[in-house]
Amino acid sequence: MSDASGVVPGEATNDSDVAEPVDGKTGNPAEAVLPEEAGSDGRMGDQESPSERKNFVIPREELECSLCLKLFFDPVTTPACGHTFCRECLALALRAKPNCPLCRTPANIDVQSHPVNAVMSHILQTHASEEYRKRSSEVKLEKKRRNPRHGIFFSNLLSFPGGKVHLHLFELRFRTLVSRALATDRKFIIMQRDAPIGCIVNIVTSRSTADGRFYIEGLVESRCRVDQIRFEEGGHGLECGEAHAIVDLKEDEEEREADNKLSEGSEQEKKDDKSAKEDEGVMRSNPESKGWEQNASPAVRYREPMEILKRAIEGLEEAMGDYQFKMTRRVHGDPPLNDPEQLCWWVCRVVDSHDDLRMACLTTDSLLARLAVSRQLIVLGCRDARTRWWVQTFAVGGILAAAVGYAVVGDFS
Ligand SMILES: [Zn+2]
Ligand SMILES: [Zn+2]
Repeated sequence: MSDASGVVPGEATNDSDVAEPVDGKTGNPAEAVLPEEAGSDGRMGDQESPSERKNFVIPREELECSLCLKLFFDPVTTPACGHTFCRECLALALRAKPNCPLCRTPANIDVQSHPVNAVMSHILQTHASEEYRKRSSEVKLEKKRRNPRHGIFFSNLLSFPGGKVHLHLFELRFRTLVSRALATDRKFIIMQRDAPIGCIVNIVTSRSTADGRFYIEGLVESRCRVDQIRFEEGGHGLECGEAHAIVDLKEDEEEREADNKLSEGSEQEKKDDKSAKEDEGVMRSNPESKGWEQNASPAVRYREPMEILKRAIEGLEEAMGDYQFKMTRRVHGDPPLNDPEQLCWWVCRVVDSHDDLRMACLTTDSLLARLAVSRQLIVLGCRDARTRWWVQTFAVGGILAAAVGYAVVGDFS
């Protein structure tokens, strides 16, 4: 198979962003030879000798990025001056200064969404395909190795995955945050100051005004642990940090943890109540229940807490009333009832008080624990909704009474 496609075995062949070479040639690493139709438009034909017309030779230097001195990878060309660089190289250069790194022409472009230089990309992939593949896996490895630092937007409000943020940024440091994010991966960190955990926000749309302010809409993607927070050089007071993804415990790990807690608990109980401990011992060594657990589908651990949470949400709908709940759904979307993790984040967004519990949801790496805390949040949310209803009723009643009183007294005075 690999012989037929001309691909060296063991090389990354499933890279989605590297198109298959058109003719399967591996290309000459020293220079690219273009067939006539790719380079000549016919008009120049009568000025060239027949051998020149047949093959168009591009010197190897023309295919190299002047920043990394390697073969172009994901080449982009600046619109104002027409200079070509690797996308990553240009993004890095523009982060330092928004000018073309070769000729200093102002280059205010969004590098990540800037279209690839299609002609150059085609030449690279068809006439230096083997080297281009190597560059592709090299760049991917480098991206993985580097844990990029992101700008931090400190907020008093907690954010949760799946939520949206709308920001109007006018401080110089936050304008720097946005332009840096747009020049790289469009991401920044949002977190409370002194909280160990924040969320990664992906900028979906951004609009800048003539005086340099930004209106941005961002999607909160995932939570992360943030460390190495410090002021960035030339960041005008912007603080940046390293974001590390937080991964929940796997189901079997969670099971082991629960077992440990159970045995810890029974150690405690042993002192108080010996018979209870024995009962539990019998239950846990029951082969029937063990067999059931082993045969159960993985999601079964979350099924019961999910059902409890769903019923709690129905209770919340009742407590809020039709109109209020409809507005909530309009803002936060429908509760994702089949996805335990997303459902917890939905609850955290909807019940927007009790920050201690919401922070606990962000911090824990146990989905079971998060489901339990989410239910607690819903119960408190119901109570808040009812309190709010009474307060509003009394307020409206009071205003009406005052108005009637004024009308009556005013009538007689
Ligand atoms: Zn480069
Ligand atoms: Zn230039």
